[in-house]
This record gives sequence, structure tokens and C-alpha cells, in this order.
Amino acid sequence: MKTIGVIGAGQMGAGIAQVSAAAGYRTLLSDRDVALAEKGKAGIAKGLGRLVEKEKITGEARDATLALIEPVGDVAAFGDCDLVIEAATEREEIKRAIFADVAKVLRADAILATNTSSIPITRLASASSDPARFIGVHFFNPVPVMGLIEVIRGLATSDATVAAVESYGKSLGKEIVHANDAPGFIVNRVLMPMLNEACFALGEGVATIRDIDTACKLGLNHPMGPLTLADFIGLDTCLEICRVLFTSTGDPKFRPAPLLVKYVEAGWIGRKSGRGFYDYAGPEPVPTR
Ligand code: NAD
Repeated sequence: MKTIGVIGAGQMGAGIAQVSAAAGYRTLLSDRDVALAEKGKAGIAKGLGRLVEKEKITGEARDATLALIEPVGDVAAFGDCDLVIEAATEREEIKRAIFADVAKVLRADAILATNTSSIPITRLASASSDPARFIGVHFFNPVPVMGLIEVIRGLATSDATVAAVESYGKSLGKEIVHANDAPGFIVNRVLMPMLNEACFALGEGVATIRDIDTACKLGLNHPMGPLTLADFIGLDTCLEICRVLFTSTGDPKFRPAPLLVKYVEAGWIGRKSGRGFYDYAGPEPVPTR
């Protein structure tokens, strides 16, 4: 593999582009328009600049990574790609439209992967041009820091596709786990009920934001509390994952907490919007309740 295409230059797409370029792949990064793709690359440059300041990487390594990332306005240039990874907003209709678009230019032997957190791979594969070359590659946030990729095969995914994606993931220095195409795969199946329950607890007045986070952080020995983590993931993404888990299983344990819905409806969707359960305007996050 030489060229990777990444669709969606948000938190995840930018991270995937960064680690791909850092591993030496030529990386095309697209979004709804070229300005958003360039914004994604600017965020990567800022993050790499901080690593240079902390002397974690050299200036040359930063420049080499950035030189391999090419922001583009649409997928027209993706005909060169060996692997295309879709990391757009967690909404099925958006992803389906992207797959129809990319099918027009994708090479016959190229692989199309999705970074979806929760939408069934087999269902998404049915919107791709070749389900045998369609697969789930689920990275974690922040991509450059988190060492895991969940690989999820759909019903029709070929062994060759699994092997190629596994070898790409390993070339990024990530640990690979295989999950079946079940709602939420492994990590979100286990994590989302906890984050959603923290939203219920907050909505029912069990404790404050700070106390729920402190209790879980210290009481469970987690690196951060569930409301901090939900803000970090994006409350819109958390809500979509809960909805997919709920509708695909019918199990009421996955029903989204009303307060989570309310925050998303208010546009308070976490760190990426400057406000979620915490307000990120100042030097330290301040709880909003
Ligand atoms: P985000 O909101 O930061 O970024 C989504 C990006 O997709 C935005 O830049 C948006 O402009 C772009 N986009 C929307 N429609 C598009 C289109 N038609 N064509 C191209 N780009 C389009 O969201 P994110 O956190 O980066 O999540 C992206 C995907 O990764 C989702 O499927 C999400 O479930 C998954 N994911 C998220 C996390 C997480 O912790 N946030 C972890 C693993 C997987």
C-alpha cells in the first residue's frame, strides 16, 4: 500500500491522516470542501508543532509528515488510493452518499474502510461498490495516542481485505483486535452504557458533573471521568452510537439519556464545539451544571 485516502477531516479523520502520513503513506484528506480539509491539516500541523516543542519528534519528522498530507475538496482524486478510510459524521445517510460518490473513482483492487463507531458493517457494505473489499477499521481518539484498532469484517468481506487492513494497522504501530459485526463491536458495546448511565445519573440529580467524574476516575481507577470522556468523544457521536445500539438491539438498556439528547439539541456537543458537560473557553474546563 502506498496511498491512503481519508474522508472527513474532523477529530478522527485528521488523526488517521496524521498517523498514516507519519508511517510514510501519501495521504489524501477530504471533507465537505477543501477549506475544511485544510482546517483538518492545520490542526495536525498544530499538534505536531507541540510535539516538536516537547522534543517528542524532530522538526524534520513534522515536515516529512505534513508533506505527505494533501487536503482535497472531494473524492475525485481518490482514484490513486489503495485504501480509503471514511471517517465522516456518524450518520448512515451521510456515509451511504459518500460510498456512492467514491465508487465512481475507486480502483478495482482498492479497499474501502469505515471508521464507524456503531453502524453495522454488513449494512454499510451493501452501499459500497464491492462488499468483499469493504471493512470496518475502528480507530480510537486521539488516534496518534491510542494504540488500538478494532477490525470488523462484514458478511462478504474477503480474507485478503482483512489481511491487507491488518498489515496497514500494524504498520502504524497499532494493536489489532478482531470483532464480529455486532452492534457497538467490543469497545462501544461496553463503554457507551457507562457514559449514557453517567448522563442519566446527572439528569436525575444523583451528583454534580464534577463529583460523577471524580467518583468514576478515582473509584474505578479510570484516567478520566465518563462525562469528560463523553465530551472528548463528542456528545453527538455518543448519542448516535446509543441510538444505533438501541434501534439495532431493541434493548432498552441502550436508550439515550434525555439529558444527553438535550445537550446535543443545544449544540453543546463537547470539546470540539467549546462546550459540552464542561465549558472549554478558559484555561481549565468548568462544569456547566
Ligand atoms: P467530527 O465531527 O470531528 O468530524 C466529522 C467530519 O466529517 C467533519 O469534519 C465533517 O465536516 C465531515 N463530513 C460530514 N459530512 C461529510 C461528507 N459528506 N463528506 C466528507 N466529510 C464529511 O467527528 P469524529 O469524532 O471525527 O467522528 C468521525 C467518525 O469516526 C464517526 O463515524 C465516529 O463515529 C467515528 N469515531 C469517533 C470516535 C471519537 O471518539 N470521536 C472514535 C472512533 C470512531
